[in-house]
Amino acid sequence: MTTYDLPTREFLEVLTSVLGPIEKSTIALHEPNIGPHEHKMVAECLSSGWVSSVGEFITRFENQLSKITGAAHVIAIVNGTSALHLALHSVGIKPGDEVIIPSLSFVATANAVAHCGATPHFADSDPVTLGLDPVALRKHLASATTQQGDDLFNTKTGRRIGAIVPMHTFGHPMQIEELILIANEFGLPIVEDAAESLGSYVGKKHTGTFGVCGILSFNGNKTITTGGGGAILTDDESLATKIRHLATTAKLAHEWEFMHDKTAWNYRMPNLNAALGCAQLDRLDKFLRDKRNLANKYDIALKSSESLEFISEPKGTTSNYWLNTVRLKKPNLQIRNELLTASRAKGYLCRPAWNLLHQLPMYDNSPRAELPVAQMLLSSLINVPSSANLGL
Ligand SMILES: *Cc1c(COP(=O)(O)O)cnc(C)c1O
Repeated sequence: MTTYDLPTREFLEVLTSVLGPIEKSTIALHEPNIGPHEHKMVAECLSSGWVSSVGEFITRFENQLSKITGAAHVIAIVNGTSALHLALHSVGIKPGDEVIIPSLSFVATANAVAHCGATPHFADSDPVTLGLDPVALRKHLASATTQQGDDLFNTKTGRRIGAIVPMHTFGHPMQIEELILIANEFGLPIVEDAAESLGSYVGKKHTGTFGVCGILSFNGNKTITTGGGGAILTDDESLATKIRHLATTAKLAHEWEFMHDKTAWNYRMPNLNAALGCAQLDRLDKFLRDKRNLANKYDIALKSSESLEFISEPKGTTSNYWLNTVRLKKPNLQIRNELLTASRAKGYLCRPAWNLLHQLPMYDNSPRAELPVAQMLLSSLINVPSSANLGL
């Protein structure tokens, strides 16, 4: 028998009390919830023959998302990464630019920047929201940048800084209103990476609708899934028109002629995926209730822990609790790894936060602010099983 340190013993106790002992071989971190409703709608789509990039489920899916998020325009896209790439391109990110992103994020945030020919410029996170820290960012921008005309430049690299991409980590809204003030002060547009935060709000306003535009992801592990998929949200009609055009090979409307006026993309979500998405959105409220219920169970179970705490939604926000997160009160990478190894050995498929993006080989030369909080969070955060059905 291995004898574990206190944090590991407490962690295993919490997992067992919230999730019960393992009956099947493992409990996944987050799995899709597919039922009869999904079967019915996907079958309906298949029978219609409209399985590709045109069809009524796409429009229906976009309208449903518009209603849920309050965004005036929603464009369904093949996946979240492509959505972010196209969003950044469409707000004017060009080769040679830099884009501010958190180092604590999924690699897609940085890749979307790189796909524009631009360079990610990493900023630090807030220990409470786990998203970009507006105060630290303001300090960094004030010392590291120079305004020239309408543009902001990185004084050291000489490159233009084109946008800020905040991310709502694990579904918890970051301080977007505070960030908007700073973005305005420095004249930078905000493109929100809301890939993880469908169903998360700041006050009554949905995440992803604060910036010029925002993106969602419907990958298999997200709150709802379309198999693979994403969406761009915006209130700006001309931006929406431009994005729709660029997502569909920039083809000019014509009955039979192939006339295209830009080098563009085939990024539109197929109707087949949208059918699955429509069925999932019909059940979103129930998923969110069950996920909140599960979060509540983790929160209660962790109240008596000496070494661990639960990460709750920030004040004034509603989180979708996409991935429930436990924090080591004393950050320690070795103990974090022991928690992961021990829980996974028992079949609870827990996961660490992502390795920091500025330490990945393709981004380790990218510009950055000081990143002490991101480093501390990496050594203290663990995601625990969070599928909606666990909260029933
Ligand atoms: C999932 C995710 C994406 C990318 O979405 P895909 O649909 O998998 O391409 C982007 N950013 C973040 C933070 C994500 O979690």
